Amino acid sequence: MTVKPNFINGKWVEGRTHLENVNPSDTSDVVGYFSIANQADVSAAIEAATESKHKLSALTPQQRFDALDFIGSEIYQRLDELADLLAREEGKALLDAKAEVNRASQIFKFFAGEALRIQGEIVASTRPNMSVEITREPVGVVAVISPWNFPIAIPAWKIAPALAYGNAVLFKPSELAPASAWALTEIISRSGFPSGSFNLLMGYGRDLGPAMIHDSRVDAVTFTGSEGTGRLVATSCVSRKGHIARFQLEMGGKNPLVVLDDADLDVAVECAVNGAFFSTGQRCTASSRLIVTEKIHDEFVSRLIKRMSQLKVGDARAEGTSIGPVIDQNQLKKDLQFIQIGKDEGAHLACGGVHHSHISGRNGFYLEPTLFTNASNQMRICQEEIFGPIAAVIRVKDAEEALQVANDTPYGLSAGVCTTSLKQASKFKRELLVGMVMINAPTAGVDPHVPFGGRKSSSFGTREQGRYASDFYTVVKTTYVNP
Ligand code: NAD
Repeated sequence: MTVKPNFINGKWVEGRTHLENVNPSDTSDVVGYFSIANQADVSAAIEAATESKHKLSALTPQQRFDALDFIGSEIYQRLDELADLLAREEGKALLDAKAEVNRASQIFKFFAGEALRIQGEIVASTRPNMSVEITREPVGVVAVISPWNFPIAIPAWKIAPALAYGNAVLFKPSELAPASAWALTEIISRSGFPSGSFNLLMGYGRDLGPAMIHDSRVDAVTFTGSEGTGRLVATSCVSRKGHIARFQLEMGGKNPLVVLDDADLDVAVECAVNGAFFSTGQRCTASSRLIVTEKIHDEFVSRLIKRMSQLKVGDARAEGTSIGPVIDQNQLKKDLQFIQIGKDEGAHLACGGVHHSHISGRNGFYLEPTLFTNASNQMRICQEEIFGPIAAVIRVKDAEEALQVANDTPYGLSAGVCTTSLKQASKFKRELLVGMVMINAPTAGVDPHVPFGGRKSSSFGTREQGRYASDFYTVVKTTYVNP
């Protein structure tokens, strides 16, 4: 049995214990075994990352460009192989997995360019003879804590800017999807970044998270995951001894897709299917609330159910699968509990809700895409993040009520509106309390080079991705010069 090691200070380090990574489409298939880092490994990685700062500062922007470009190119060259691995460990249908791997490659390429575009400003002072220089410096050692649902793209959108702007990285991927993280690390290990500047620590977040964050040599923490864990990370960052760690949290969503009377229903149905069910609904940007005005409600629902009947649930890597399994037994249990809660709350189970413990002879965590109708926004299925292929239709009178319901949630990540009215589209764009608005487009599915993030309980701190990422990964310094 081969156990994949952690990567610390430029060396592969085996742990004493390991994780077993199981294919959710076929639980008899073990994707691999992965070392669990211990406290000594965490300390060694922090020490190495701290020591690497001077080596990193000696790298020219061109050398950082070359290393990041190498990573992006290799990911692209190995797209099919990495997508197959991703689909095998995470359960996302192969087409979605390919799109994710492609996006990871694009992100490394984008930030390779950003390494050459780090800029400052010279500003005239209010005082005679004085000038003011504003420059950006690396933050230092950054802990990257990532979830399982985008096991290569999310690490990419954290690691690439961290390295582009000259920081050292401690990478703690999800214990549920270490294989993609390990493959990415293997590529980074050959990219030319100095030893110690990139470290992989696999294992459980409840142990490794606090071990990393409580060490004041860690300057910043970028976290994506559930709201509950996000709150723990925030508390650790501010309550540790020494200076408060800079932190950034990307968390859950309860994203609305509003369909107005004047919508093109073909477009609206495709937006709903894609947003609610693709990637098995396991996206922070999934459209879990479909808010539909009453004139077109019945027509929209009947077309949506017809379209849902064409979605094929099955092995993530099998030809023709549109919806793979959910990630594991715990998530399946949670999804099924929410289906029961929806029924108990009085919503009507209009489609799906059925769990299959095996498909085509393979044991897996299969759940049919599930639609509730007659839901009200106060129900738990409309307020709490489920994180599965489950959506609820909420019938509203008009656009005014649709907007009010859309905003009535603790979350504020993404929101969509389907309308052919420019006036309505503009009003929703202005008044939706979210970080990302999609007009006649699914709530999920974003570009790799523009800011990503939300408000309220969905996000805390500066935006990820695009040029805005520099706000997190750099420190602004203001220098007064009196020549
Ligand atoms: P999770 O919160 O269970 O875990 C996320 C990461 O935190 C994992 O690496 C985990 O090991 C680690 N962790 C666990 N306990 C920790 C602790 N005490 N201290 C530090 N780290 C700890 O989330 P998950 O189940 O992996 O991912 C699903 C969640 O992620 C959903 O809520 C989803 O909405 C959210 N998500 C958000 C975005 C976004 O950008 N807003 C993107 C993808 C996923």
